[in-house]
Amino acid sequence: MIVPFSDLRPSHDQIRPEIDEAIRSVIDHSHFILGDQVTAFEQAYAAFSGTRFAIGVGNGLDALILILKALNIGPGDEVIVPSNTYIATWIAVTAVGADIVPVEPDIYSYNIDPSGIEQAISSKTKAIIPVHLYGRLADMPTIMDIALKHNIYVVEDNAQAQGAVLNGKRSGSFGIANATSFYPSKNLGCLGDGGAVTTNDEEIYHKICALRNYGSQKKYYNDVLGFNSRLDEMQASILNVKLSKLTVWNENRKSIAEKYQYSLSEIKQIVLPVEVDSPAMVNHIYQIRIPDRDKLQAFLRNESVQTMIHYPVPPHAQNAYKYLGFKPGSFPVAEEIAATCLSLPLYPLMDEEKINYVCGRIKSFFYSFPK
Ligand SMILES: *Cc1c(COP(=O)(O)O)cnc(C)c1O
Repeated sequence: MIVPFSDLRPSHDQIRPEIDEAIRSVIDHSHFILGDQVTAFEQAYAAFSGTRFAIGVGNGLDALILILKALNIGPGDEVIVPSNTYIATWIAVTAVGADIVPVEPDIYSYNIDPSGIEQAISSKTKAIIPVHLYGRLADMPTIMDIALKHNIYVVEDNAQAQGAVLNGKRSGSFGIANATSFYPSKNLGCLGDGGAVTTNDEEIYHKICALRNYGSQKKYYNDVLGFNSRLDEMQASILNVKLSKLTVWNENRKSIAEKYQYSLSEIKQIVLPVEVDSPAMVNHIYQIRIPDRDKLQAFLRNESVQTMIHYPVPPHAQNAYKYLGFKPGSFPVAEEIAATCLSLPLYPLMDEEKINYVCGRIKSFFYSFPK
């Protein structure tokens, strides 16, 4: 048996006629940039997210950058980010010339620890970017309270948690404006690059609509210096089909995560995710932690089980951020997670046989090499 980390083909096979038809229709209409498909998707995604507006953009990183630009965040400003996120969250802050202020995550939820946020706030702090890592909503009620008290913007990085809900509110509806990514492997992924901003703020909505399109609201009239970062019609037409499947596929992810959780709970050396069946968790990634991570990963590779590490090197330890002067030990929680985490195969239509095989191989690792 071979178990890939992810396989999107079974999902796309389920909706293949609709996807083919969507693509055909875009080609027939021959309108490829900012047409009816993007508008339809923006309305549908805003409705799904419970926000007034959604704006389709080129990718998740651009969504973050456009939001920071629209909020006039730039040189001299500080932005609080988690120390253990995917590097895009940091790069967005760097891209607008603001300073990164990393805050450590909670070792169980893997999300930014609100108790560290307040200490990190200075007179220069303009925004906090919580990331809903692995599909789990960050502690938004506490983060929103802190932000309100200090008059700071909250911008969610919602690339990994499309569909998560807390107290009736969807991910991407808490912050002033929020970014998501439709990179193919995300819970809602397109067949290429794509992203969106969700917001209730009409002024930010208009600003970002202009910023994504050269700073222009009227063709060939440019009010501000903008970017070219537009979700294209082809991807929007595919997202219009795939959005209707998101809730079911999130349920599939949950039941796979529950099976892992149940089967692996007998191995006491493994730190399991805190909980996988809450509506605030959409199981983008099923991540465990073990001291002997590299050995287990190599063992599983030998048994044809493909795993991944999210992420092997925290942003502060990347060569690209050497100039910030952080040292090993600067962010021990992020470093501990990077050293011990392992993501197991999980994709919406993964069959039970494969889940059982993965669990069986993991158990044989621990039972044949007792620790
Ligand atoms: C995927 C991802 C992004 C960036 O999305 P792209 O569309 O690849 O630019 C940003 N933040 C997080 C947490 C992500 O997982």
